[in-house]
Amino acid sequence: MGTEVSVYFWHDDDARGQAIIDEIFAEVDRINASMSTYVESSRISEINRRAADEAVFAGEELFKLIRRSLDISVLTRGAFDITYDSVGQHYDFRERRRPDEATVEAERGNIDFRHVQLDSAGGTVRFAQQGVRINLGGIAKGYVVERGVDILRQRGVEYGVVTAGGDSRLLGDRRGRPWMIGIRDPREDGEVAISVPLEDEAISTSGDYERYFDEDGMRYHHIIKPSSGRPVEGIHSATVIGPDAVMTDALSTSVFVMGVDEGLKLIGCLPDYEAIVIDADGQIFYSTGLADPGSDDADSAPALPEDNCADQLP
Ligand code: ADP
Ligand code: MG
Repeated sequence: MGTEVSVYFWHDDDARGQAIIDEIFAEVDRINASMSTYVESSRISEINRRAADEAVFAGEELFKLIRRSLDISVLTRGAFDITYDSVGQHYDFRERRRPDEATVEAERGNIDFRHVQLDSAGGTVRFAQQGVRINLGGIAKGYVVERGVDILRQRGVEYGVVTAGGDSRLLGDRRGRPWMIGIRDPREDGEVAISVPLEDEAISTSGDYERYFDEDGMRYHHIIKPSSGRPVEGIHSATVIGPDAVMTDALSTSVFVMGVDEGLKLIGCLPDYEAIVIDADGQIFYSTGLADPGSDDADSAPALPEDNCADQLP
């Protein structure tokens, strides 16, 4: 998936510790081989090649993750949409390549999660029209770190952290102290904007500094607004904290797309999840559960009467 994975934990026995590391990286490779669009032979690449013509068998694991992705599209009113790749495939950030206006216009209509049809009985995926493509780049890293922590837990490890790109899943605390997780300053390389003490939770950050190039004052980056087919503007990073890394991964991408107001409103309606958003002016916004009532930040968090959530949630 073109990202770095790291595993960190304590173990008394060197050899057994190493065996656990090997097991986790084998699992990462297995998931990558099935879910990465960079891999020609992956199941997802096969789906992208054939699913507009016929129903393609996905296998239980991939099928479930695609279904969760579609559920999150409903939850986020289409902000999260794995069919963004119809346009996304035309970017190459290393080569500074981007789609021209005509290509964006031509491909925009292929972005719609409702074009992805799932058949639970057969475990198959089908696309409603030619040109649709899917890419799990906004959710699969969360899945990888959840799987990594599952393995740690199964092997009796009590304290650890697994990270893939901007997604981390913590197991327990740091032996009596919380883990301190730094959220990057989106414009100062190597600087930390905020440190958050956490235990036994997942945290994901989506930023416009991960894969990008600048051209004529515009930053072309990897998070696409499905409604426009263009990179999201007005926001530098979105962080989501919660119990499940698959959700925090997909929600950080979603909040990035939805922006400060709409994004924090949605998070305010999900009881287990919190968010920290840094906008294009460098201003930091917190979801209601994180805002310290004594600080100015409390003012910036949107007040949310509970019954508003009926409108927010599907
Ligand atoms: P990273 O950890 O690589 O920063 P993010 O969680 O921020 O990943 O997700 C960004 C990735 O999500 C992009 O590289 C792309 O693969 C995918 N993506 C981009 N736009 C969307 C979108 N609107 N919905 C779902 N996935 C998206
Ligand atoms: Mg994400």
